[in-house]
Amino acid sequence: MTFNPLSYIVMLKAVTRCLWSNPVAGRRMMSHHISPNLSGRVAIVTASTDGIGLAAAEALGQRGAHVVVSSRRQANVDKAVSLLRSKNIKVIGTTCNVGKAEDRDKLINLTIEQCGGVDILVSNAAVNPFFGNILESTEEVWDKILGVNVKASFLLTKQVVPHMEKRGGGSVVIVSSVAGYQPMQGLGPYSVSKTALLGLTKALAPDLAHSNIRINCVAPGIIKTRFSAALWENESMLEEFLKQTSIKRLGQPEDIGGVIAFLCSDEASYITGETITVTGGMNCRL
Ligand code: NAP
Repeated sequence: MTFNPLSYIVMLKAVTRCLWSNPVAGRRMMSHHISPNLSGRVAIVTASTDGIGLAAAEALGQRGAHVVVSSRRQANVDKAVSLLRSKNIKVIGTTCNVGKAEDRDKLINLTIEQCGGVDILVSNAAVNPFFGNILESTEEVWDKILGVNVKASFLLTKQVVPHMEKRGGGSVVIVSSVAGYQPMQGLGPYSVSKTALLGLTKALAPDLAHSNIRINCVAPGIIKTRFSAALWENESMLEEFLKQTSIKRLGQPEDIGGVIAFLCSDEASYITGETITVTGGMNCRL
């Protein structure tokens, strides 16, 4: 075959054009077969009636796990349960405000009663009742943010450990944020709570390993959900964020759900105490 520089240039141009114009760049190819590698496992996902939690519940369910969804409002729980059932996912649901001890007890007890045990915990719930200059944040704000985002993650983990031990082990995934690496302007206390979750993951890993329980963390970038609407609805702010990413689009909840499911699977059997950033290439370091 002879080398024809002209046809080479034509081909190069075609490839470049395709790359520039491809609107799904950086998107996962969705036609792949998902293996049921979590069948027989029971998975609790907190704050799982919308956004990242719902996507995580779906990803775990698609892989065969029996999923327990929850959030504060019964109507949201009902909607999520019927949505997941319509996708042939084994699922039950209950209300649970993770900041309330009696709700956490109810969630765990219901799971044990109705699903026979627990193998997976995804601690996804978080609140942010404050936006502004960190020096203006009050003690109440700090109590609420640390109580729901950090303390409840620890207490829920502590509570599932004996149940996971009965099954011979398990997996915990905590949802942190890119804001845990670089505090976001106006979101000081929230960002600090997300940094604490990186520490919590590392602090728990050695002790949980004695019980064959892995604990890992996922730090999403800007994901298009109701929670982050204030960030992406403002066009100049969105533009600023996209400048910081390599993949020029907002993340979708499904971009996080699959990573959570991977961390819960046996394919991640040698990963613990780790945080995976899922940010479209946003720079993350502590
Ligand atoms: P979302 O789409 O707004 O969904 C929030 C979910 O949390 C809803 O199901 C809500 O249902 C539930 N919820 C709120 N407070 C709760 C509580 N105290 N106890 C139990 N459930 C509660 O939010 P999201 O963006 O997916 O956020 C989920 C997690 O991802 C959070 O930890 C957040 O910090 C993290 N994250 C998000 C982004 C992002 O860009 N979106 C980036 C990094 C990290 P009810 O109203 O019925 O309770």
